[in-house]
Amino acid sequence: MAKTSGTIDWNKALSPLFSKYGSRKHPLEYENIYQLVVMVILSSRSTDVLINKIAPELFKAFPSMKKMAKAKPKDLFPFVHGITNFRHKSEWIVSIARTVVDDEHIPTGMEGLTKLPGIGRKSANVIIGESGGKPEGVIVDLHVARVAPRLGITKSDKPDKIEEDIMKEIAPKHWHQAGMGMTFLGREICRPKNPKCPECVVREVCSYYRKFERARRLTR
Ligand code: SF4
Repeated sequence: MAKTSGTIDWNKALSPLFSKYGSRKHPLEYENIYQLVVMVILSSRSTDVLINKIAPELFKAFPSMKKMAKAKPKDLFPFVHGITNFRHKSEWIVSIARTVVDDEHIPTGMEGLTKLPGIGRKSANVIIGESGGKPEGVIVDLHVARVAPRLGITKSDKPDKIEEDIMKEIAPKHWHQAGMGMTFLGREICRPKNPKCPECVVREVCSYYRKFERARRLTR
């Protein structure tokens, strides 16, 4: 059961965020869980736009885990060579394919997923959330790591602690929405420099905005 901290009930406070971004599709244009796993691994320290661009040709050549299991990492290079760390990512993808062999054997829980090479908690949370699995955590990417402390739901800048703090404050049924909502907010509005606070649906509960507003009123 999620708790409330101080005077803020974060489940209520972030409900405008859930409404605005909750049903929005993930930016990775995957068609099934196999494609999701491969694209999530490829997207680490790269952009979703680039991964969406190269994915159709990659999946034409390797349409399933079964096909991928028969490949050698270097067989992927012509498709993924423009992506950061493509050699290691190719090795991880082929190694995962050889381990799970079939699409239906792809793990759907945190423990199984994080045992696979190239998949940490952040990627596992994306895969679990997008495949409709039982929530086991909150996605903490660069955007969430910036937005969550600004909002005041955490004081930490460490991903593990940020995730722990959000999980304490938000009910599990909202964990995926909370992570994705903060990600979209961070991409579009809560930018590193000059966040567009007047356009933000959660500004009323945001500690960064309240401090900024207080300072602005004092200087009037
Ligand atoms: S009010 Fe401003 S600082 Fe706070 S979350 Fe929204 S955009 Fe970010």
